[in-house]
Amino acid sequence: MPRGKTPRQPARTGHQDKVRVTRTLLSAKPASRTARVGADAPVRSAPKGRKKPAPTAGGPATVNSTAGKKPKGYNPLAADRVSEILNRLDQLYPDVTCALTHKNAWELLVATILSAQSTDVNVNRVTPELFRKYPTVEDFAALTPEQLEPDVRSTGFFRNKSKSVVGAAKKIVGEFGGQVPDEMEKLLTLPGVARKTANVVLGSWFKKADGVVVDTHVHRISRRLELTNQNDPQKIEQDLMKVIPRDKWILFSHQIIWHGRKLCYARKPKCADCPLENLCHAADKTWSTVEMHKDAKA
Ligand code: SF4
Repeated sequence: MPRGKTPRQPARTGHQDKVRVTRTLLSAKPASRTARVGADAPVRSAPKGRKKPAPTAGGPATVNSTAGKKPKGYNPLAADRVSEILNRLDQLYPDVTCALTHKNAWELLVATILSAQSTDVNVNRVTPELFRKYPTVEDFAALTPEQLEPDVRSTGFFRNKSKSVVGAAKKIVGEFGGQVPDEMEKLLTLPGVARKTANVVLGSWFKKADGVVVDTHVHRISRRLELTNQNDPQKIEQDLMKVIPRDKWILFSHQIIWHGRKLCYARKPKCADCPLENLCHAADKTWSTVEMHKDAKA
């Protein structure tokens, strides 16, 4: 749903659309159980500035819900559904790129290593001064991890990150002629570099789609959108590579990362403002006009 458009309002009954309600709901007699929408019903919250649905007469009541059940013939991986998700992401985030500040492949590699368990904003605070102090990969290769630690301390896990950055620099200088390799296999030989980091460097700098970046946002949102039911990043990546066309791999991960930052938060996602809302059946949605699937839990 484009920004600025009024999200669909809940029914006056205060119950979600398409949810079947038993007679007890309308009975004046207070029901014994709290209203539930499916086994894993999220707490629905009205969008900001919008009036919450009026409580039903008689207080909370039992809802005989169809939520949590899959509509007949529903296939979350159907080509037209996936294509619609991609179209909406294109409209919402047409030109998004990597948010890590960098001027070359080495800087992007370092920034990506530092971004583990940190935020891009935090990393972008550290790297300008870091690259001013050590402008080249050779400068980093000449350091010991202990020498680098104070400079990257604020990004967290600084001892491991220092080891990885210095180790990667030494290997790039010693084995790759001072150039960050542009092949997945070679990148994976660098200390501290796994597929996520390699995919960031390959996709964002070398424009090579060898895989899909699976960070915390891609992990969470791919599951919410039922593009995967895996938990392991490598398995998630494999699933995404099967359903997302290869020419979309790079942009898709950027778009999903931005979506995670702007709307689809880990806690309290802004579903009422989300253009993917009527395609999303995640069990932890905060607002829904469609049935939610308990097995799509994030
Ligand atoms: S509807 Fe909610 S949970 Fe689903 S993608 Fe949008 S923000 Fe995320």
